[in-house]
Amino acid sequence: MDLFLKRTLFAVLACRLGECCFVLPSLFPCRAGFPLLGMLAAIIAFSPVILFAADEKPTAVVNWIHAAEKSDQLKVDFYDPNMPPKAYPGWTDFELSLTYKFRHQTRWRLGKGNVYAVTIHPTFTAVKPAVKHVVQLPNTINQSHWEDSILGRHELDHVAIGSHPRLLMLTSHLVKNLKSVNRKADQVADVTNEWAQAAITAEIDLRRLAIQQLITANNVNLDLITRHGGETVPDREAFFDRLFLKENLDELKFLYLGESHKLLETDEYRQAKSLFHQQD
Ligand SMILES: [Zn+2]
Repeated sequence: MDLFLKRTLFAVLACRLGECCFVLPSLFPCRAGFPLLGMLAAIIAFSPVILFAADEKPTAVVNWIHAAEKSDQLKVDFYDPNMPPKAYPGWTDFELSLTYKFRHQTRWRLGKGNVYAVTIHPTFTAVKPAVKHVVQLPNTINQSHWEDSILGRHELDHVAIGSHPRLLMLTSHLVKNLKSVNRKADQVADVTNEWAQAAITAEIDLRRLAIQQLITANNVNLDLITRHGGETVPDREAFFDRLFLKENLDELKFLYLGESHKLLETDEYRQAKSLFHQQD
């Protein structure tokens, strides 16, 4: 049952009980304090701070969590809070992995000082980015419904940032958009396949790192505006809707903004929405 409905029923019953006690004092050994008790119950019923529970998540989000846990995209660890404390009671780590295949062509010319200017042209045939999250929560919370706790909900918002569908699109785009890599070599014999492949891999690693920094910067922003989960996200829909759009990338000084323009303007990218934006 929806938590809001449960709380409403509880509050109404509590108020009615208080009223009966007030109207029929002969039947119940109580006084006018009971309506106040009913009101107090109503306040408690609607106070997530007192109950330490947030609203239940939409079915689509719960289904996503279960599928992500099964596929190892999401792992939730429950730690003993008696162990040495971490900086915060909840913690979320992410890892952006990237598998890809490419073929390449290499050209070179002898430049100044007898050094060869080498240009490597990769063509990517398969690109598969994936983001994994590990959430750590104290084992004292309700482990089967951790996502309904205030702490769990906050950590899930970090997961929501790293799982935004635009991230995978942006990562794939930046890999495929790498058309040439320039290097120098002392002699032609140095320009082997392995050497060229290592140069391409190094460039891709820089792009992956820049996207990781984007995720981290948005996580820092989330902690700032919610005081590490002490408050809900103000204008939640707007927060998740603007993630990884041009103004967000601009604000965070994304290194590859220039190379991303073409993708950022597409309807497919702009309309890719986070599943979590209406979670509260
Ligand atoms: Zn946080």
